[in-house]
Amino acid sequence: MQFIDLQAQRRRIEAEVDAAVSRVIRDGRYVMGPDVAAFEAVFGRFLGGARVVSCANGTDALALALMALETGPGDAVFVPSFTFIASVQVIPWVGAEPVFVDIDPETYNIDPASLVAAVDKVEAEGRLKPHSVIAVDLFGQPADYPAISEIARAKGLRLIADAAQSVGATLDGKTGVDYADLATTSFFPAKPLGCYGDGGAVASRDEQLADLVESLRVYGKVTPADAAARDFKHDPKYLSLRVGMNSRLDSIQAAILLEKLKIFEDELDRRDAIAARYSERLAQYVSRTPTLIEGARSSWAQYVVEHEERDALAAHLKAQDIPTAVYYPVPVHQQDFCADYPAPVVDLSVTEAKSPRVLALPMHAYLDEAAQDCICDAVADFALAGAA
Ligand SMILES: *Cc1c(COP(=O)(O)O)cnc(C)c1O
Repeated sequence: MQFIDLQAQRRRIEAEVDAAVSRVIRDGRYVMGPDVAAFEAVFGRFLGGARVVSCANGTDALALALMALETGPGDAVFVPSFTFIASVQVIPWVGAEPVFVDIDPETYNIDPASLVAAVDKVEAEGRLKPHSVIAVDLFGQPADYPAISEIARAKGLRLIADAAQSVGATLDGKTGVDYADLATTSFFPAKPLGCYGDGGAVASRDEQLADLVESLRVYGKVTPADAAARDFKHDPKYLSLRVGMNSRLDSIQAAILLEKLKIFEDELDRRDAIAARYSERLAQYVSRTPTLIEGARSSWAQYVVEHEERDALAAHLKAQDIPTAVYYPVPVHQQDFCADYPAPVVDLSVTEAKSPRVLALPMHAYLDEAAQDCICDAVADFALAGAA
């Protein structure tokens, strides 16, 4: 059994993807070709009319967002510790410092009360300037954007939505890009919307901010606003106005994503049905099945349960050829690279309590009922054997 079966999806769209890839190879515009612009337009419409700037991966997308918001030395960036390390590592990239925030025990996303407490602490200490917050849509569920964006407004913080795991997820029909200055995502193959390599994107409803991200994507090139404000003596193509990076989505990956988007809604429906079936069958055998907040639709990047004897359950499933994964075994604030930061300013006890208990079960749109039954039966066996 596969944890995420990418080949099942590949079989479904093999002819279309092969034709799209061959077309790009024949066309020859491998970098920033027409498929990249086409994908950015289509994906922007998918997000309800946002500007999309594609890039090389989800980590670069976060870095581009921080750079566009002029995050730098002396700035505090508030971020959950219960996330993939990329959400945090980009903060020292731009010279700023992460300030960890605890999560809600039911959703694994930023706890708004902990965010307020962390901002107040940083303000009181006075060493760092509260600058921005990176909200993460963990396991595919949108963060509590109405609450977080309200706090950000009240505290004068910029808001970045790390939607690497949540393309397709909504909260009352909206997504992070409707609340945040910038939303970022990843098209890593195992994400809900993945390509056949690395890829990422930044999205915004703010045209000028999107122009700035586009500039930063290629070494700080001239934006339309720059061109309107100044009279350049040289070909703007070879001018650089700010320090940026080189982070581009390959034309081949854009062509593949265009094909994958066509079946994406159907895949989201399938994931929803699988998650509902899991929860119905597993609720009595584990300590916790996933909880969605009111109005939320998850993209089910992961289906995560909690169990007091997580490692023993994982071993029991492995013995029956059922793969599982732990997201995340070590909270980011306990990673070695964070050793030199000052102690967390708020209590991170929910984060620390979750790591030893969480277990992700196989989840992808092509998980059939027989496989699901086999997984659920194995979890039930474990619980019943323990009870006996
Ligand atoms: C995967 C992921 C990233 C990074 O994406 P890459 O494309 O692998 O660089 C960032 N944040 C979160 C929450 C992720 O899950």
